[in-house]
Order: sequence, then C-alpha cells, then structure tokens
Amino acid sequence: MSTLRFQALKQSLNRKPVEVTEPARRSEIFGKNVFNEMAMRQYLTKDSYNSVMDAVQNGSKIDRDLADHISTGMKEWAISKGATHYTHWFQPLTGSSAEKHDAFFETTGNGSAIEKFGGGSLVQQEPDASSFPNGGIRNTFEARGYTAWDPTSPAFILGTTLCIPTVFVSYTGEALDYKVPLLRSLQILDNAATEVAKYFDKKVTKVNATLGWEQEYFLIDAALAASRPDLVMAERTLLGHAPAKGQQLDDHYFGAIPSRALNFMRELENECMLLGIPVKTRHNEVAPNQFELAPIFEEVNLAVDHNLLLMDVMDKVAERHHLKVLFHEKPFAGVNGSGKHNNWSLSTDTGVNLLSPGSTPMKNLQFLTFFVNTIKAVYDNEELIRSSIASASNDHRLGANEAPPAIISVFIGSQLTKVLDELEKVTDGKLSPQEKTDLKLNVVGKIPEILLDNTDRNRTSPFAFTGNKFEFRAVGSTANCSNPMTILNAIVAKQLQEFKVEVDALVKDEKMKKDDAIFNVLREYIKKSKKIRFEGDGYGDAWEKEAAKRGLSNNKKTPEALKVKKAEKTIKMFEELGVMNRIEMEARHEIEVEEYSMHIQIEGRILGDIARNHVIPVSIRYQNILIKNVQGLKDIYGSDFKKYASEQLVIIEDISNHIEKINKGITQMIDARRAANKIEDAEEKAFAYCNEVRPFFDEIRYHCDKLEILVDDELWPLAKYREMLFTY
Ligand code: ADP
Ligand code: MG
Repeated sequence: MSTLRFQALKQSLNRKPVEVTEPARRSEIFGKNVFNEMAMRQYLTKDSYNSVMDAVQNGSKIDRDLADHISTGMKEWAISKGATHYTHWFQPLTGSSAEKHDAFFETTGNGSAIEKFGGGSLVQQEPDASSFPNGGIRNTFEARGYTAWDPTSPAFILGTTLCIPTVFVSYTGEALDYKVPLLRSLQILDNAATEVAKYFDKKVTKVNATLGWEQEYFLIDAALAASRPDLVMAERTLLGHAPAKGQQLDDHYFGAIPSRALNFMRELENECMLLGIPVKTRHNEVAPNQFELAPIFEEVNLAVDHNLLLMDVMDKVAERHHLKVLFHEKPFAGVNGSGKHNNWSLSTDTGVNLLSPGSTPMKNLQFLTFFVNTIKAVYDNEELIRSSIASASNDHRLGANEAPPAIISVFIGSQLTKVLDELEKVTDGKLSPQEKTDLKLNVVGKIPEILLDNTDRNRTSPFAFTGNKFEFRAVGSTANCSNPMTILNAIVAKQLQEFKVEVDALVKDEKMKKDDAIFNVLREYIKKSKKIRFEGDGYGDAWEKEAAKRGLSNNKKTPEALKVKKAEKTIKMFEELGVMNRIEMEARHEIEVEEYSMHIQIEGRILGDIARNHVIPVSIRYQNILIKNVQGLKDIYGSDFKKYASEQLVIIEDISNHIEKINKGITQMIDARRAANKIEDAEEKAFAYCNEVRPFFDEIRYHCDKLEILVDDELWPLAKYREMLFTY
C-alpha cells in the first residue's frame, strides 16, 4: 500500500476544526497592531505627528531630526506590544514580500545593553540587493540597494516584529521593487485627475485611486498537500485525473462553508483586524474547496500592501489549522481557477467617487468624463493591460472555465451602452440650447436611475464597469496588484492629460463653452474606443474571430504578452510620465521573461520526476500483478486461458503503451530543455520554454492520468483530485 497518500488521508479524515476565540466586537481590535493615527498621537510629539501626517497627505519630506523622534516613539509603541525586532518590509520583484529582522537590542560597551532604534534605521537600510532580481540594473551600476521608509503605509507588528513598509531602490535610484513605480503612478494620476476634476469642482485638490481586491484561493488539507510533490513545489497539480464529480452541480458556490475552513477564516479575520486590514466578505467560490475573501476598498498603495500582508498571514494561519492555502491561478485542471479582481476607482479629497454617477446632470458629466477616459485609455493600451497580468501561472487560467479570456475588452452593461450611443450623436462643434437641455434631461440626467437596473453583470469580462468602479478581473490570484495597478494608473493619467489639453484647446481656440467642449471630446473618444467594448460571453472562437477583426490583441502566452512592455512606444510613454525609465522598463521585462523560463523549467523537472519515479514504477507493479494473474490462468486453463484473460491482456498492453508515451515524452522534454538552456537571450529562451518545452506537459500528463484510472487505487501514490477537493 502506498503509505504517504494513505497516511495523509487518514490524518485528514481524523482532523477536527481548530478552536478559535473571537473578540466580542471586531471593531475593538481593529488596527491594534498598526502604528496608526491613534498610536502616533499617543507616542509622538506634536511636531513629529504633524510631519508624518504631512508626508502622508502631501508627500512632504520628513526632517532628519524628527525622524529620530519618530523612530523612538515607534520603538516604544512596538515594545509595549511585545515586539523585539524590526524589519524593513519591501516588495522585491520576486512577487512576495521580503524582510530582514534586526533586534532593537544593542550593547552599550560597558557590559549592559539598551533597546535602540534610531531615525537612521527607520528611514533607510541597506539589504543585499544582489540576492533579489534586478534585471541587470545592479551590474550596470552599483551592487548596493536601499530600502527607504514609505510613511504613506503605516508600520505594523507581525508576531514580535515591527514591520516598516519601505521602497527598494538601487544606489542610482532605479526602482528594484513594485512599490516605487506604483507610488510614481499614483502621483501622476493624482495630478492629471485633479486637473480634470477641477472642471467640475474647483475645490478638489487631490484625487486618490482606490482599490478593493477580491482574493480567491483554495484550501486543502495540509497532509494531502504535503503528499504531492507538485503541490509542494509548484503549488499546482501537474497531473491528476478529473474526479467523477466536479463542479458541475455548482453546489459549492455560496453554500455553507465547511467548519474547518470556517474556523480558519474566523482566525484569519481576527488577525486581519489586528493588522488593520478591513476584510468584510467571505464566501465559497464555484469550485469545491475554493473560497474568496474581500476587504473594504482603500487607497491603492495601502490596499496593495494589505493584500500582500494578507497572503502572508493566510499561510501562517492555515498552518495552525492543518490546511494549505493554494494561491495558484489554476491548481487543478478542469476546475475553476482563482483570480484577484481589482476593483478600481478614483476619489477626490472632497469625498466624491469620480466613477459614481451623481444626482445632477453636471455630476453625471463628471462621471462620464472619467468613465469614457478610462475606457479610451484601456482601448489605446489594451495590449499593455494584458501584459500587466501576464505570468506563467495566469496563462492557465485566462480563457479557461469561468475566467476572462486573454483578449482585453470592456463591459459596461446595456444601459450605459445606450448612453454612449446617444452621446455619439452629439453635434460637432457648439451645441444648440435645445440639444443641451435634451442631453442633460434625457441622456446624462437619466444615468443614476438606469444604473440601478443594470443587473446584467458579465462574469467573464476582463475589465467590467460595476456601478461605481471598474473591476479588472483578469488579474491572477498570485499577483502583486502593484503591477496591474501601476499600468492602469499610468495609462489613465496619460489619457486625462490629453483630455485636458483637447478640452482647453476647444475652449480657447474655438471659443466653446466648457461643457460643449467636454461633450465634443467625449464624443470623439466614444467613437474611437468603441472596439474595446464587448458585452458578450468571452470564450470561444466567435469572440476570438470578432476580436481579431477589431484589431484587438490576443496574446495567449506570457512571452508574447510581455513583448509590448519593452516596445519603444511603451518606454517612451512611461518615461514621459515619469513612472519608469528605460533601464527600469527593460530590467523588468528581462526579469519577467526569466521568471517565466524558470517557472516552466521547474514544472518540467517536477513533472518528469513524478512521472518517472512515481507513476511508471507503480504502473509496472500493477502490470506485474496482472501478468501473474494471466500466468495463473494459463496454469489452470492451459491453452484455453485467453478466454478468461483477454481483458487483463488488454490492460497489460494499455499500461505498456502509456508508459512508453510517458517515458519518450520526458526524454524529448529534457532535450527541449537542454536546447532552451543554451539560448543566451532571455526573451528568446522564454519563447523556447513556451513553445518547445511546455507542450510536452499535456502529452505526459494525459498518459499519466490514463494510468491513474487503470492502476489499482491501493497502489496509487498521489492524492487524487476527489480526495484533495472533497475531503473535510
Ligand atoms: P461584488 O463585486 O462581489 O458584487 P461589491 O460591489 O460590494 O461586491 O464590491 C466588491 C469589491 O469592490 C470590494 O472589495 C469593495 O471594497 C470594492 N469597491 C467598492 N467600491 C469601490 C471603490 N469606489 N473603489 C475601489 N473598490 C471598490
Ligand atoms: Mg467581484
């Protein structure tokens, strides 16, 4: 009997839900482990407090002397909460967060010691940049990398460590992380959106982009996960036959949450409360053992940090519940994958959501302005938007089951489509008073009430308008949201800059009234960007053909999708916006294609090992049992034995055929890997991994899965889909 699988099954079947104690009121513990405004008021002098708040709100620099005061206050607060260490918490381009812990403790030289944390340690650190991906930036310049305090995201305590959110830059100032470009994109978007928002309300002085992510994930028993080398090392099953019952019945979606998972969620939510992550909803997803968690939206930079932190905390809490969280976009073939919907909007310092239709025609013109500009930005940059969500793991999800396709399109619903259709007919040039009244009353004025009936939500659209925000659904569940958010912010900023120039020109040169000019520019944008709007179902040939006719890109695989990131046009745009320079753009492209190759390389090795070391040996063992059986029948029945052994003989041959295909496939795959590894150019190598190596996966898997249903269940070494998806 294959021990590991059956031991794991036994363990998982014997588990009880882990008890969780909950506070009477969640609000009481909210933000308790965060150095938030309340904690700052208590631990900082007035000057220090004001300087931090000024940095948060206006991006001003913090004076070095004050930094010493702030660090002391922060340290005292942290120690009062039981912290012994501090770390600069940052987001290198590996995808997860990084930290290096230092103790507050320092010796004084006379045999005693004190707890120390100076302003310098708060503001700047020097981790070894060479151990993080840098796409050659380090080689070109200097080995040193710096982390620097980002006061806009508050420090927090995780376990016994004070974590200080920081940016990570090279000695020469190039971004080595996700946060720097994100912060730059938020700044430029703030400037551009504020200028446009002023057309409608002079009092607006700042526009924040907001993000509410929805994190999907799978939970499986920790012992079962540990029994599968593919899950341990690749976070996805590289083989495994589909179970007799999958998600066809849709009986999991919004069903009762299983008690082990529920207790995990309760504890997770407590931890989130302490860390100030405003989680709000939890529910089952479509696939068995798939769940979703969503917070109340926040300013983008903070929301991104919270999502990263959450993923970390989820891993830790799951361990205590003997569960394993799978963040992978497609852990199980044939079963729904996981995404991380990015709900995005713009909000002014006067408290207005710019993507929310308002109660007056003027407010609705403001809404339409930001709405149409976003659609236009996505249309002009659809390929770039696609590139922002490209990864080896997300490739499995896009275009499969419930997920959005690799073609970017925008869904706005039938009601808003009608509004845009009407606006398309607006007269060229100055509007007659009658036309204006009609527009205001019957088109723009009608928006709020019609939106309420806008219930035809399309779940497969990669980019959908959902009432008062855009929902970027194609983002993968493992992604750091910074990447897609940086690109979205940047393209919308650029679009709004252009819009302002065009409107101002009409007002100045054509002597148009401001709203006439806005209507005129919007009309042109609506016409120009029409091709990106798609209300239908995103899968299948029909849409692919239609999209091709419309000239929309359909980059199915990552190396292809990433190409646009290093296109001259893209680099120029990012340089002009000041979001990233050429060196940073090219470095990122290189890191991403390299990461793709490594990903496929690792998966290929794991698949080869499992197929050769697990699948083939047990298949031979089972084949030997059958052979013995046939020999026995021959002993009993002599030349008549075939009458009784014919089906056994068929299985014996089937097994041999599958083994042959698997083994040959692996040999060819290894050859393809060797050839790919010889390629110097990182992008070319990624294409080789994509087109020459990866296709063997399906072939090898197909035959392994066939063997899974032929071979005696008691011999099979790997936990099966039904066990991983339906146990507990
Ligand atoms: P659903 O999409 O599941 O129907 P909601 O519409 O309530 O649920 O919201 C989904 C997500 O969108 C939540 O994470 C929520 O915080 C976020 N969200 C709501 N309004 C905004 C906004 N103005 N900006 C960004 N995110 C938002
Ligand atoms: Mg949603």
